[in-house]
Amino acid sequence: MKNIYLDNAATTPIRQEVIDEMVKVMQSEYGNPSSTHSIGRSAKAIIETSRKTIAKQLHCNAQEIVFTSTATEATNWILRSAVKDFGVKRIITSKIEHHATLYTVQALQEEFDIAVEFVNVSHEGTLDYAQFSALFSNDIKTLVSLMHVNNETGVINDIEKIGVICHQNKALFHCDTVQSIGKTELNLQELAIDFLVASAHKFHGPKGAGFAYVRKNLVLQPMIFGGEQEKGWRAGTESVHQIAGMAKALELSFEYLNEERKYITDLKQYCFQKLQQAFPEFSVNGDDTFYNILNVLLPFSPEKTAMILFNLDMKGISVSRGSACQSGSAKPSHVLAEMLNGEELKKPSLRISFSHYNTKEEIDCLISALNEI
Ligand code: PLP
Repeated sequence: MKNIYLDNAATTPIRQEVIDEMVKVMQSEYGNPSSTHSIGRSAKAIIETSRKTIAKQLHCNAQEIVFTSTATEATNWILRSAVKDFGVKRIITSKIEHHATLYTVQALQEEFDIAVEFVNVSHEGTLDYAQFSALFSNDIKTLVSLMHVNNETGVINDIEKIGVICHQNKALFHCDTVQSIGKTELNLQELAIDFLVASAHKFHGPKGAGFAYVRKNLVLQPMIFGGEQEKGWRAGTESVHQIAGMAKALELSFEYLNEERKYITDLKQYCFQKLQQAFPEFSVNGDDTFYNILNVLLPFSPEKTAMILFNLDMKGISVSRGSACQSGSAKPSHVLAEMLNGEELKKPSLRISFSHYNTKEEIDCLISALNEI
């Protein structure tokens, strides 16, 4: 049975060129980047070249890129340091953020007694920008944490607008760009973003490698203490091959961006049309969604709903649940729960997420498998 992987918002297959790069580094660059001899310096050079490669793609300075193990780690570090060290007294976020943000904010609220306010989200998953602006009526040291592309629905937040509002109100802006990095152009010279986080495994790089962008002149304090790696902000011997793989993956993502974006956009459109033909009553969760994510609400009965993911998995098709109670999980999706009404939440929502490795034949298989349920 051939596997059909349509869960690219969860993680992506690694590109062969990235694997080759990592193998090369593992074989020849075994030095500790902190060692002063030539073998160590050579490993250090790989790290600094990777930093420059990443910075170039995002139009920022290499010094503004900090390597971490995951985006979750980067978000924990940034939010915690903002509260502890910058004296942030209020965080404005939304209830549809990733748990890496939401649970960190919750922990900080309990620990430091900061205020937390939420931007309203519409039935279509979009933010209420007027209400967001109005939240700044009182003058409290604030950090805003709003993502770029939602990982469940693909809804795109207007980060340019959010940045302007933050700037006008002297608030810091932390942006979770995990779903968009490497899949769209981002110019950090033009965006009023103070911190962003990214994760290599979402752009065909290795797992366990991520980075943070920290705008220059913002001096955070470490979360992990130890050596002087990453300016002392993130102690611990660097994973040289992971970092090199991440930089290679990002470089290739931008090299192929136009052709892959077009290919994936067409694929999503094809999937939409096929779903429309097969299930005329289906609907899409979210407005103005990113080109690689399609979250759909299917007009299935409760009996079919319960087993949908299991049935697809039995046929070798990997997709993700978009809502509750379809895979044995008692917890509804916190994102869809914020958007949909009770009736809609009872029906199955599926998140189908594409990469350039997918084909129209695979979409056909998905549609026939859904038809057979
Ligand atoms: N933020 C978003 C939007 C994500 O989709 C994910 C991963 O699912 C994360 C954060 C966490 O990233 P990582 O796997 O690097 O911890």
